[in-house]
Parts: sequence; C-alpha cells; structure tokens
Amino acid sequence: AQSGWKPSGALFRETRMVISAKPDSKKNTGGRVWRPSSWREMPVKQVPTYPDEARLQDVEARLHKALPLVYTGECEHLKKLIAKASRGEAFVLQGGDCAESFEEFEKYGGDNIRDTFLLLIQMSIVLMYALGLPVVKIGRMAGQFAKPRTSPMEREKNKKLELPSYRGDMINGPEFEARARVPDPERMLRAYHQSTATINLVRALAYGGFVDLHRIHEINLEFVNGTPQGKRFFEYAARITDALRFMSSCGIQANSPMIKQAEFFVSHEALLLPYEEALVRQDRETGKYYATSGHMIWCGDRTRQPDGGHVEFLRGIANPIGIKCGPSLTEAELIELLDILNPDNEPGRITLISRVGAGRVREHLPRFIECVQREGRIVTWSCDPMHGNTVTTASGVKTRRFDDILSEVKEFFEVHREMGSIPGGIHLEMTGQNVTECIGGMYELSDADLATRFESRCDPRLNASQSLELAFLLSEYMSG
Ligand code: PEP
Ligand code: MN
Repeated sequence: AQSGWKPSGALFRETRMVISAKPDSKKNTGGRVWRPSSWREMPVKQVPTYPDEARLQDVEARLHKALPLVYTGECEHLKKLIAKASRGEAFVLQGGDCAESFEEFEKYGGDNIRDTFLLLIQMSIVLMYALGLPVVKIGRMAGQFAKPRTSPMEREKNKKLELPSYRGDMINGPEFEARARVPDPERMLRAYHQSTATINLVRALAYGGFVDLHRIHEINLEFVNGTPQGKRFFEYAARITDALRFMSSCGIQANSPMIKQAEFFVSHEALLLPYEEALVRQDRETGKYYATSGHMIWCGDRTRQPDGGHVEFLRGIANPIGIKCGPSLTEAELIELLDILNPDNEPGRITLISRVGAGRVREHLPRFIECVQREGRIVTWSCDPMHGNTVTTASGVKTRRFDDILSEVKEFFEVHREMGSIPGGIHLEMTGQNVTECIGGMYELSDADLATRFESRCDPRLNASQSLELAFLLSEYMSG
C-alpha cells in the first residue's frame, strides 16, 4: 500500500527544517531576526492574495516536505564561479524563457528544454573560444514561472473585457477568462514537479555525454544548420576538433570531465515568496540557509525595495543572488541593498543586472558603477539588454528590436571599459525554438512576421539564430 508509506531513512528528513508559515513575532525593526518567513512582516509587492488560505497552507506544507532541487554545495560552487567573473576570470551567460509554461512542457516533451540548453552550450563555446575564458552557464529554467506585472489588470487585444493580469503559470492561467485568472496555490506544486523534471533533464544532458566536445558537430540545432550562424559555428567546431586531435597526437588524453561534460546551473526570479520559503533548507554542516528552488535566484526590478519582503527574504539565504537594476534605482538605494544583502562583501554573492534600455546606458550605468567603486563593493556586472527594450507594435504585439538589444550590450561594454570596471556577464530571454518574437537580426524578421510564431507566455525571446548571432557579435566586442 502506497498511501501509508513514509521514507524510513533519515537522509532527507534530517536536513529538512520545520518552518512556521505564520508571521514571526519580532517586528521589522533594526535588530530584526531573519527567518525563512520573516518577509511576511514586511510590505510585499507582486505576491498574490490567495482566495483560500487553507489550501495555500496545505500546499506550503507539502512543499516544506518536498525534496530540494539543488544541493547547497552546488550553490557555493556557483558563487565561486560568479566571483571569478567579477575579476574578469570568467564570463556568465544566463538565459532562457521569460516565463516557463505548463503547456509548452506538455507539448514539446522536453525538446524545448533540450534545445535551449543546447543553444546556451553553443553560445558558450563561441564565447569561450573567442575570449579564452571559462563561461558559466546558467539557465533561466526549472523555476522561472512567476511574473511581476506593471498593471494589476489587463485588457485583451482590441477588446473591452478587462481581467486581473496573468502572473505566470505558477500563479494563475494565461487564458483570457475570469476563472483562469484566480490565483491557485496548486499551481505551485505543478511548477515544482515540472522543475524537478526539467533539472533532471538538463543534468542528464550536461553530465551524460550529450555535450562532449568530441561530438561537437552534433551540437547544432536543426534549424540553425543551414544558416550563416550555423556555418560559422561549424568553423569553430572544426577548429575545436583539430585542437582535440592535436592533443591526442601529442599523447594527451582529452577525456577530462571538463571536455566530456558541461557545468550547468539553473536560476529564476524569486518572486513568489510562499514557494521560495517552503523550499528553504538549512545546511547541516554550516547552519546556513539556502533557497533550494534553484542555484541562483534574483530580485526583480519591481520588487527590490530595501524595506520590502523580497529583499528581506533574500538577505537570509546564502545562494548567489542577482539584483535587476533599472533606471529608477538610485545610488543610495543600491548601496543600501548591498549593505543588506551582502554585509560581508562576499565575492560572487551579488550580480548586478543592469537593464536600462538602449541609448540610456550612459545615463544610468556610470552612476551605478561609480557608487560601487567608491564604496569598494564587490559585485559581478551583468547586462540584461531585454527588459529596457520592450516596445509595442502598431498591431499591439509586445516585441524587441534586435538592434536595440545589440546597442544596449555595446554601450554596456563601452561604459565598463571607460570606467575601468569589469563586464562579467549577460542575461537574455531566449529559446532554442524557431520563434518570431523579436524583430530584426540577420533574417530581418519584420513586424508582420511576429504573427507567424509568437509563443512566449510573456516577453519576446531571441530565437536560436538571433541568439547565436548575438554570441558572435559579443565575442567580437569583448575580444576587440
Ligand atoms: C524578467 O527578468 O523577466 C523581468 C521581469 O525582469 P525585470 O524585473 O528586470 O523587469
Ligand atoms: Mn521578462
């Protein structure tokens, strides 16, 4: 009988902690004690109010007992790699969907996950080869299901009906019907299970020999094969094959795990705090707390208030964390955030992901860099050229122009170069599928093409050939 079965070993149970889902008694004053639940005492933006409190608590209790998705040692390892990027000894490539979806997961049977993974590997090979630096690969996946929204309500294209906004599959449904938009806590469980399957697949692909550099010619996405980017990738592949053959003729066995495997990490925005709290675990050896929902998590531009619940949650967990830095971030706030989130100035702990928009980098990035330099803070600088460049077309479709994305990246590198600071990474919304969501690129996708294959749940993603094109251009500026 399955129903009465309980794990008998202590292996998992002892590492779990019992967390009260109720607010703590300590008030949010100076000497506030951090708990996985202390965010509940603070003002919290973007987290929905669930209509049925009892069902929410039931889901939270089940997630408290669920297995961690990542191991604390992996988070510490990633922190060290991100620290290298802060010193210019590595480069961080972070990318994936704007929002993962339940429907795509069912429709593609893992192919979309494999393709995005493969595309990140291809881009990292291009960057590694051109820069002579290790590339740290982090997917926006296995947890990227909750979306902050600017407006609480949204209107269907050209229609009168207004409904509460879609907030990601982990919160409510995308269908334009009132019922779908009611936040449903069960969705957290579904997102958790999808995340476990996703991370299992990427671990298998990363460590199971699929991306062994000896079979680099197989590492290409079907639809990129005939394209100029695909051809260019094959030139790199041929050079890598030659290098491996040369090593082998020298008697060097190129069978190191570094050649046969790819290190790969997962990340998402830590938006839905009840989910994040439920997956916090304490490391038995060090006593530190970790978000085990992903290796790295980040704080969105809409939820980074120094006195808000999201920052409170993030301050107590030991994972590497990102902070999105949009145009409204002041220098004082930035330093306050670094004080709260990284009081020990630990390298690799903080990645500042600027996303200010093409043409606005010179207005904002220098002031961020200047105060970080003045205060002697250690951060890893990353560029998100997506979120400051969203436009709506005449026909009402949300898109981004490839040229704007490129301009923001260029400006990011120029400003860092001028200020003697180190550009350490890039953060992209992208997919290995042949979608038509961003305008431009070598194929000159136009406004009219957007209708062909627009599948994103939320923001427009670069498709595979656009992403690869970006990787080639990036490797040119960075090595040039
Ligand atoms: C995102 O990364 O999908 C996002 C919403 O970003 P930001 O918080 O920078 O707007
Ligand atoms: Mn987005």
